[in-house]
Amino acid sequence: MVRYLVRCVLLMGLLVPYSPQLQAGQEVVVYSSRSESLIKPIFDLYTEQTGVKVVYLTGEAGPLIARLASEGARTPADLFMTVDAGNLWQAAEKGLLRPVKSRVLEAVVPDQYQDDQNRWFGLSLRARTVVYSTERVKPAELDTYEGLADARWKGRLCLRTSKKVYNQSMVAMLLEHNGPVETEKMLKGWVSNLAAPVFANDTALMEAIVAGQCDVGIVNTYYLGRLQHQNPDIPVGLFWPNQKTTGVHVNLSGAGITTHAKSPKAAQALLEWLAKRSAQEAFAGINMEYPVNDATRWDPVVKSWGKFEADESNLAIAGQRQQEAIMLMDRAGYN
Ligand code: FE
Repeated sequence: MVRYLVRCVLLMGLLVPYSPQLQAGQEVVVYSSRSESLIKPIFDLYTEQTGVKVVYLTGEAGPLIARLASEGARTPADLFMTVDAGNLWQAAEKGLLRPVKSRVLEAVVPDQYQDDQNRWFGLSLRARTVVYSTERVKPAELDTYEGLADARWKGRLCLRTSKKVYNQSMVAMLLEHNGPVETEKMLKGWVSNLAAPVFANDTALMEAIVAGQCDVGIVNTYYLGRLQHQNPDIPVGLFWPNQKTTGVHVNLSGAGITTHAKSPKAAQALLEWLAKRSAQEAFAGINMEYPVNDATRWDPVVKSWGKFEADESNLAIAGQRQQEAIMLMDRAGYN
């Protein structure tokens, strides 16, 4: 009863109404930086199938990680869900996630998309790839991320801000492949090719391509999917770079069980359910992402982009080398 009251108090102010008739153990508490519109339908489905209620709080990844850290053992959160391996790595590094022993997760989640101490697991994948104006660029002119630093793209490249973790993780992976000297050179090339100041988000970047402000850019696939869903004839094409070298940078959304979870078993049951084929189609499909469980069907929009070679390096590197990547971007004048 005391625990129940504590939870009630801690959960006050959360976005979802707390239902007092539920006993502890029949619910899982999730902190999520994956947005509400993407998780609510999935959690509703889970509750429908299992009777277990999912109480969640959504917010930006950084503040949620800080909140978990400051709450410590008092946290009501059982599961931390977020996007980008860089964020999951941070949470694990701060001791906020616990190792999980799970045959289901080991079988379903490829090694490069899970922590080597099993503190987090990927659930859906998104590629951060090259997009181009179908009116002004032929795909044959494109080759690699590094190639966007060539002088022929001068005044034609658009980039999202380097403050976004997506770009920090991507540059961290390129840094792993190419080393600091080449990476800095590439970043300086990108900056000198910019057609416009950096964008706040991927959608604005693609709108700039449509408007003729620039010809090429780098975005997460699902943002293109959303635009294509609204307008199938949008003059923006998707290109898979680095097919003969390191592969396309793929990142993930994923989750881990908190160190101080009050219901770790219930949290694990939810995590395993999310990785199963039955849930994967909805979990990935709702955001036009790639399911991490490769037995799952792809959304038709996702399927239309075709198959590609992905970078298969372990995504923990995106966290490990993130600070270095940020420093290089800063030095190159990439804002
Ligand atoms: Fe996003």
